[in-house]
Amino acid sequence: MCGIVGYIGNSQAKDVVIKGLKRLEYRGYDSAGIALINGSLSIKKCKGKVSALEKLLSDSEKGSIAIGHTRWATHGEPNDVNSHPHVSSSGKIAVVHNGIIENYNALKLKLQEEGYKFYSETDTEIVAKLIESFIDKNPSIEFVKAVKLALAQINGTYGLAILNSDNPETIFVARKGSPLLIGVGEGEMLIASDASAVAEYTDKVVYLDDGELAIIKKDEYQVINADDVELTKEVHELAMSLEEIEKSGFPFFMLKEIFEQPKTISDSLRGRINVEDGSITLGGITSVMDKLVNAKRIIIAACGTSWHSALVGEYLIEWLAKTPVEVEYASEFRYKDPLIGEGDVLFVISQSGETADTLAALREAKEKGATVLGIVNVVGSTIARETDAGVYLHAGPEIGVASTKAFTGQVTVLALIALSLAQHKGAIDKKSSKKIISALSKIPSQVEEILKQSDQIKEISNLFTYAPNFLYLGRSYSFPVALEGALKLKEISYIHAEGYPAAEMKHGPIALIDDMMPVVVIASTKHTNDKMVSNVEEVKARKGRIIAITSPSNEEVRDLAEFSCMIPETEDVLSPLLSVIPLQLLSYYVAVNRGCDVDQPRNLAKSVTVE
Ligand code: GLU
Repeated sequence: MCGIVGYIGNSQAKDVVIKGLKRLEYRGYDSAGIALINGSLSIKKCKGKVSALEKLLSDSEKGSIAIGHTRWATHGEPNDVNSHPHVSSSGKIAVVHNGIIENYNALKLKLQEEGYKFYSETDTEIVAKLIESFIDKNPSIEFVKAVKLALAQINGTYGLAILNSDNPETIFVARKGSPLLIGVGEGEMLIASDASAVAEYTDKVVYLDDGELAIIKKDEYQVINADDVELTKEVHELAMSLEEIEKSGFPFFMLKEIFEQPKTISDSLRGRINVEDGSITLGGITSVMDKLVNAKRIIIAACGTSWHSALVGEYLIEWLAKTPVEVEYASEFRYKDPLIGEGDVLFVISQSGETADTLAALREAKEKGATVLGIVNVVGSTIARETDAGVYLHAGPEIGVASTKAFTGQVTVLALIALSLAQHKGAIDKKSSKKIISALSKIPSQVEEILKQSDQIKEISNLFTYAPNFLYLGRSYSFPVALEGALKLKEISYIHAEGYPAAEMKHGPIALIDDMMPVVVIASTKHTNDKMVSNVEEVKARKGRIIAITSPSNEEVRDLAEFSCMIPETEDVLSPLLSVIPLQLLSYYVAVNRGCDVDQPRNLAKSVTVE
């Protein structure tokens, strides 16, 4: 969701910024813009893609300092005027902003009374005018002081980058609730809201924390906190290769990421399981294992696909470790004044580690005294830093907006956590434990097997490309997979789809079934097989078009289905790791057939940084 890139150094700033904005396109956006200083400020911005912005730029727009933005509109429709940067009345100050200024209306009215004119409907424009108002009141004020005074009046969230043509060798950035980092180069500096925009230029990054402001020149940077104290920030090494953030021959990132899963699941397991002795090592949560063992219940909060993996986690932890689990939508968690406190453990799951609602849930639980743990993909992200402990997925950058490898990474990590907790609680015997670990170790090669059926899944997708609705049914561990399959289809192909517990179908959705309705049945667990057979019979009796995901032990379902995709046998608890793969492929091929932009579906953002 929305992106910021900035550059100061000896290269053409606009080229670096445009390239960086393209790297951030995957996050989802509706307009783009850039501000450069070459003597004076020059602004170019428009609704639409970065490539459209690029066309607006001419050779005369040269300079060694620039900031750019991809906007995901929150206040005011996506159009040229509302695109960032926004400028002061003097035309000397340019601002790009990620986030929401909650008190913008009050500030706008006040500034309008003082005579400032506004041209956009955005909340962001007030930032440029507010800074300017402090300069107008006191023309000798240091620019950074005017920025600080403005920030002190702003409520809400922001990642801000600011240029001032009177300070042509400095980029000013500030962060509160929206990620920002500095890429430290040799004789050049970058700023970005996401490391993928700087990875090509440097592997040294400094992550800003909330309340911090940075003053960046080409050879140095200074970070100060809200109390005006200068900080010595840790410089992190970025472990991100260019190949990881490029399509490497695949037509879409989503397909590349689906096919990466044998490797990413292996990476999530690497060094963490020992098949010989059945042991698990999860260094990230060793320090809190006592708290986990003694927890009377565990709460997992997440959004979207991560919420589906949380549901799988509920089954895994309850079944293996016998600790009660509640799964919460992170966005709802805070508003029920949650009964959580010391002795409770909250897991938050977020691919990006920046999801605003999940972060808010984490902070609420932390404030109430609970132990907060993270399951996150992006190393160094805000959630990773604010949790007491946690486990990384190690899935590498996920660029496709529709999450695939993060889901399987999350479920893998949840399986490890559940098993490790079960072992520490003595809730599982050694033999069963070893059996599950051995099954886990086989998952990557089994995913590889499923991927070999992609042509067959493509053929099935050809038959259902123009279906207006889909129903996904699953029981037990396959129920969250049904939800995830339906979400994938909705996200990228814009087909209405619903996931349901298979038996629940009788209580409503069965009314929708006719010979036009594709029903995807996830029947890959042994312990629910008989009941699944009955549900499939019910669908068939109403002429639903059955597409079944089965394993060798679900022969009956396969025989009833019009189409089927076979996944290898595994332990029932691990089946979501396999059964989700054909569903990812099915939605991908349907979306491609419909001509949809798979990697950047309309209205969606990769990392949802607004509440
Ligand atoms: N709230 C700002 C706007 O609507 C910023 C949105 C963003 O984060 O891209 O323009």
